[in-house]
Amino acid sequence: MLSVAEAREHILSHFQPTATEGIPLAACANRVLAVDISAPYDLPLFDNSAMDGFAILAGDTSASSLTLSVVADIPAGSTPTVKLKPGQAARIMTGAQLPEGATAVIPVEDTDFHNREAGTAAPENISFSRVVNAGENIRPRGMDIHAGQIVLKKGQTLKPQDLGLLAMLGIAAVQVHRKPRVALLSSGDELLEVDAPLESGKIRDSNSYTLAALVESAGSEVLRLGVAKDTRESVEELFQKAIAADVDFILSSAGVSVGAFDYVKEVVEANGSLNFWRVNMRPGKPLAFGKYLDKQFIGLPGNPVSAFVGFEIFVRPVLERLSGKLDGSRRKVRVRCEEEIDSDGRESYLRAKIREENGVLFARLTGHQGSGNLLSLVQADALLIIPAGVKCVPAGQEVEAILL
Ligand code: AMP
Ligand code: MG
Repeated sequence: MLSVAEAREHILSHFQPTATEGIPLAACANRVLAVDISAPYDLPLFDNSAMDGFAILAGDTSASSLTLSVVADIPAGSTPTVKLKPGQAARIMTGAQLPEGATAVIPVEDTDFHNREAGTAAPENISFSRVVNAGENIRPRGMDIHAGQIVLKKGQTLKPQDLGLLAMLGIAAVQVHRKPRVALLSSGDELLEVDAPLESGKIRDSNSYTLAALVESAGSEVLRLGVAKDTRESVEELFQKAIAADVDFILSSAGVSVGAFDYVKEVVEANGSLNFWRVNMRPGKPLAFGKYLDKQFIGLPGNPVSAFVGFEIFVRPVLERLSGKLDGSRRKVRVRCEEEIDSDGRESYLRAKIREENGVLFARLTGHQGSGNLLSLVQADALLIIPAGVKCVPAGQEVEAILL
C-alpha cells in the first residue's frame, strides 16, 4: 500500500502550471497572478487631505482663539493654485491635493464654520482654538506604497481588494495563468440523472454535482461528460469526448475498485497506462492514476464521501499546481477532540463539527463515518486527520484538521 503523501507526490510530479495570458482587470477576480506586480508610482499620488476642513500652517495654531483668512477653496480633483502664507487657510475636501505651504488640516468640525451642505461657499474667515500638529490629517505622497514596491506576488489568487489596488496603480490588464480545465465523468449502471424517475436498484449520480462544484471552487473549469454505463463502449465514448475537448486531465469517480464491472480501469489500461493503487487511507483506499492516450487521468472511488476526500487530498493539489497557485486554499488547524476516536491504523479523514471556546477549537464527529453517508459530510466543517498507525485518539487530545 502507498502512503497518502507518496501517492500525492507521484501524481503532482506529472503536472506543471498552465500557460499565462493577459486579461482585462475586470475579469481577474479569483485568477492566479503569473507575475509579481510592482507599483509604477507612489500611493497616495500626492499629499492630500484626510478630512473635510481647512488647510493651514501648523505654526499658526494655538490653544486660544485664532482667526485665519480663507484664501482658496480646493475641491477634490482640482489643482490648488495658491501658496499659503502665515495667517491664511484654504477650505479643502477629503482627498483634495494640499496647497503649497500647508502643513496640516484642521477638520471643519473643530472650527466655527459648520455649514457642510453641498454648494455652500467657503467662509471669508475661520476661527478655532486648538493646537494642530504638523502633518495632522495629511496623507503624504507615498505613505502607503512607494514606486517600485512589490505589492502582489506571483502565485497569489486575486481577491476583490487586490483588483482595487491594481486599479489604483493603473494596471488595466494582468498576466494570469489560464484556468485549468477538467473533464468529469461518473460511471456505473446504477446511476440515474437527478431528475430521472427512480427505478428499482438504482441511485442518483450525486458525485458529478459534488465534484464539478469542487473543481469550480478551486478556480478551474469543468466539462461535464455525464455518466458512463458499465460497458467498454460507453466508457470509451466519454473518454473520447474528453480527448476532443482540450482539457488538462480527466477525472472520474467509481469503476476503479475490484468490481467485476469496473470498465474505467480496463479502458484506461488498454489505451494508455494505469497505476492502480491501494492508498493507506480511509475513506477512499482505491485510487487510479494514469494516462488515457496523451491525457492524464485520475480515477476516484465511487462512494460519495470517498470521492470528496479523494478530491481534497489528491485533486485539489493538482488544480493548485496547474493554476500556478503558491498558496493552498484549504487551511489546516489544530483541534481538540471532544470524544475518544477509534481508527483502523490507516491515515483517516474524519468528518467533524468544530466549535470554538476561549480560543480553543473543539471537534466532534458528525455521525457514522461510512463512506456513503454524505449527510455526515454535509454537517461537517472540517476533516480531522488521524495519522497512519494511530488506532485510538483519546478525548482531549489534539489532532490536525482541514477546514472545509
Ligand atoms: P464503485 O467504485 O463503482 O464500486 O462504486 C462504489 C459505490 O459508490 C457504489 O455504492 C456506487 O453505487 C457508488 N457510486 C458510484 N458512483 C456514484 C455517483 N456518481 N454518485 C453516487 N454514488 C456513486
Ligand atoms: Mg460501479
